Amino acid sequence: MDKIVALAKRRGFIYPGSDIYGGITGFWDYGPMGVELKNNIKKEWWKTEVYDREDVVGIDAAIVMNPAVWVASGHVAAFSDPLVECKICHQRFRSDKPEEIKAHEKNHSGKKAEWTEPKQFNLLVKAELGVVDKQETYLRGEITQGVFINFKNVVDSTRKKIPFGIAQIGKAFRNEITPGNFTFRSREFEQMELEFFIRPDDTEGDKWFAYWKEQRMEWYKSLGINPANLRYRDHAPDERAHYARFATDIEYNAPFGWSEFEGIHHRGDWDLSRHKLKYKDPSTNEEYTPWVIETSGGVDRALLFFLIDAFREEEVNGKTRTVLKLNPKLAPVKAAIFPLQKDEALRKIALEIHNSLKIKIVTEFDDAGNIGKMYRRQDEIGTPFCVTIDYQTKEDNSVTVRDRDTMKQERIPIINLEKYLWERIKNI
Ligand code: ATP
Repeated sequence: MDKIVALAKRRGFIYPGSDIYGGITGFWDYGPMGVELKNNIKKEWWKTEVYDREDVVGIDAAIVMNPAVWVASGHVAAFSDPLVECKICHQRFRSDKPEEIKAHEKNHSGKKAEWTEPKQFNLLVKAELGVVDKQETYLRGEITQGVFINFKNVVDSTRKKIPFGIAQIGKAFRNEITPGNFTFRSREFEQMELEFFIRPDDTEGDKWFAYWKEQRMEWYKSLGINPANLRYRDHAPDERAHYARFATDIEYNAPFGWSEFEGIHHRGDWDLSRHKLKYKDPSTNEEYTPWVIETSGGVDRALLFFLIDAFREEEVNGKTRTVLKLNPKLAPVKAAIFPLQKDEALRKIALEIHNSLKIKIVTEFDDAGNIGKMYRRQDEIGTPFCVTIDYQTKEDNSVTVRDRDTMKQERIPIINLEKYLWERIKNI
């Protein structure tokens, strides 16, 4: 983990939030590489969940909602985690995370661990609006409620028929008791969620729950996560959130133990009935409260696990090469373009190639001069291809393309370069 955290900062993926003021627990800032990786994850998710399907539409609801939403949704009453305090050092933990409790008890080896009784601690972050007549509300604790309260608007404006889904990506905020494990548990984070509305029927519920479980697992695999590092874990009845009929997590084998990537929840009619919303079938006029199957993933967790899974240290000619073997679709930079020698003519050709490619593919130009250092930097940010311009380029208009994973070089005519890269990136 230390290596991932160091690389994330060194190469501009993730910085501690408010770094120059000593940081702020549970908040992180994404740097130039991090924002690209994050955008690519979101773009891939949106493509799979919305563009590739006929039965899903997207929305983007406000972060701040009428506080009545959170009363109706049950979050004001029940969105809480059980907090316990270590009586020796007064650090606070969640009693429903036995691994974290055990890990902490080891710090006090020799002394008998003693904990306070668990107290329910509400996770909603309060916000105050207005200047004179102040109104107290919340920053959304999950993005889902913005979808439910717009259910009728979406049905009326799109004429989507059940079964159909509404997708959304956006920020959520939680007063987490134990933010930690780098960005894994933060207080501000982004979620990518699908609420899929179905007929209230057990057979339909089982069918769609199984379907979405599989779809979501496949998505992580299709973007290169090693299948051996993925598993499902069903929630025990006493572990389920207040809205869930049943729930399964997709977990990742992180350096800090198997951890939730994403949750698949059968929310039944909990939310729509709390918001008093129904659906009328336009062909049969039958009216009912749909059930909801939800897939709820964290963008920041996905980013962290993609980084961890892609991270490699390899021995090359007696030296260690650090490389991020990210799927090219996710890589922040798709191709780096460099002149091999400090030569004005080569630099000019390299810039021309960069300028013509960059409007279609994210490319980076670098002329720092030391080819070893330039490769090292690109390997560490996961750039799948490095294109080098050398003296032969002046003679025959060809360049060399180095593959990040095999480190093999191929000579390609400039005229074929865009097609060559495009076929291998298949992204944009
Ligand atoms: P945990 O038990 O790990 O705190 P949770 O079960 O409360 O998570 P959900 O409410 O199911 O999480 O949220 C859905 C998804 O949102 C999670 O799978 C995760 O990817 C993401 N997520 C939730 N809380 C956080 C957080 N504090 N920081 C980063 N991502 C989060």
